[in-house]
Amino acid sequence: MECLKGKSAYAGMALGKIALLDEADYVIKRVKIDNPEYELGRIETAKKAAQAQLQALYDKAVKEVGEASAAIFEVHQMMLDDDDYNEAIENTIRTQMVNAEYAVATVGDNFSEVFASMDDDYMKARAADVKDISERLVKNLFGNADSNMNFNEPVIIVADDLSPSQTVQMDKDNILAFVTVHGSTNSHTAILARMMNIPAIVSVPADLDKLSNGMEAVVDGFTGMVYFEPTEEIREKAAAKINEEKEKQELLQTLKGKDNVTKSGKKINIYANIGSVSDIGYVLANDAGGIGLFRSEFLYIGKDELPSEEEQFTAYKQAAQMMAGKKVIIRTLDIGADKQADYLNLGKEDNPALGYRAIRICLTQPEIFKTQLRALYRAAVYGNISIMYPMIISADEVLQIKKISEEVKEELKKDEIPYKDVEEGIMIETPAAAMISDELAKLVDFFSIGTNDLTQYTLAIDRQNQKLDTFFNPHHEAILRFIKMVVDNAHKEGKWAGICGELGADPELTEQFVKMGVDELSVAPSMVLKLRKIIRDMD
Ligand code: PEP
Ligand code: MG
Repeated sequence: MECLKGKSAYAGMALGKIALLDEADYVIKRVKIDNPEYELGRIETAKKAAQAQLQALYDKAVKEVGEASAAIFEVHQMMLDDDDYNEAIENTIRTQMVNAEYAVATVGDNFSEVFASMDDDYMKARAADVKDISERLVKNLFGNADSNMNFNEPVIIVADDLSPSQTVQMDKDNILAFVTVHGSTNSHTAILARMMNIPAIVSVPADLDKLSNGMEAVVDGFTGMVYFEPTEEIREKAAAKINEEKEKQELLQTLKGKDNVTKSGKKINIYANIGSVSDIGYVLANDAGGIGLFRSEFLYIGKDELPSEEEQFTAYKQAAQMMAGKKVIIRTLDIGADKQADYLNLGKEDNPALGYRAIRICLTQPEIFKTQLRALYRAAVYGNISIMYPMIISADEVLQIKKISEEVKEELKKDEIPYKDVEEGIMIETPAAAMISDELAKLVDFFSIGTNDLTQYTLAIDRQNQKLDTFFNPHHEAILRFIKMVVDNAHKEGKWAGICGELGADPELTEQFVKMGVDELSVAPSMVLKLRKIIRDMD
């Protein structure tokens, strides 16, 4: 038996035969050519075929995993038309007088390395995308794109890396798990695996040459372990865990469509947290009542310029439409501290967590704030959007926000652009906001308690500092008292209060939160049905 540890991209257990994804069934040779125009013509033909294949993949993905997750194939179509990428290929052919296959493969490798070496996780993940489109072009040049990705029996897919297009082409009914040597948990392939509910482990240090098709393996997505040729004991344990999980899942599935209500009739909303529109399929699959926190800053990260009003409008509108009338609470830009975007030139700070971040940026750079607010009020026409402001410490900030948002609405009205007024609330994630929540409750429609930051600021512990993990105690009495106080203050003014920090998903506290009168818990989509069960079992 060989056991290897990787990173879990999606928890779950699998036991079965492996299918190795054989990539290198063609060898790319560097061939000297004397007619660059001919090679460029071949590339044009290969590109046309690639565009058509990507369109077909997009259509298939829309049906299987939804529009948001399918969007990656639109991105691939755009990348294929990228000027820098195409110029680099043309230059390689013309200056080195080499064949099309070699030029595409070299440029693909170079671009992919550049992305992979970036600090930003999102950009790192794009390395796989540029590799994917280059491999597609090369395969088209060889005349064998999209080799068979369907399997006759359920298998564990083992590959060096998996591209989104490979993942979506597979017949998912016959896939038990994904195991890859490379790949990040943030990649679109990992996202697709999560959407498809398939256990996946990435970064597994396996030597693929030593593995063979049909070999048995156990994939433990809970621990990130993979066992090749497992012992009888590991097989038995895995089989038992698979049964246990299946039973749990079946039980949880029966809770879909049911209320989050205790035996004594107390109801609570369970919503989901998302970072991008592509997470919404998962929100729907887990039957969340709405989206309690859409971290909009991910639209701003991993780019080299601010997202335009149109780009934001499209994302917010898509979220509102996909949730079809269910509440979508979008948090305005919470950038700064650990979430950086170089183009904003926020500058280096000694104490970034106590620094220039979130609403402080929006209030001092109102042009950035106004663009986002315009996009939000416009998108609100298409569904049930609420807006939430992060890192509030004073009533004065709320008044400044109101002034700016009124100006934005006035401008939209003047320009005759359709928009809608929405419910507006604030995050309570600083001790200052919690202490004056009686006053703040008079000014806003709701509170959402950000326990991650509230814990950091109340306990004076940097949430990023691993050395302090043992001291970071969100169960601290001070945090629980703050939560109770905030909920009571909201209710006194007839407003609602929820929790959208990680603590909201802590099963040990669910009962206490319900008793405190918390109106909403917004948690990772995978926790929604688990919390529903706890609540329904509660007296
Ligand atoms: C929080 O602070 O609890 C929160 C939900 O916001 P974030 O984790 O994005 O800072
Ligand atoms: Mg926060």
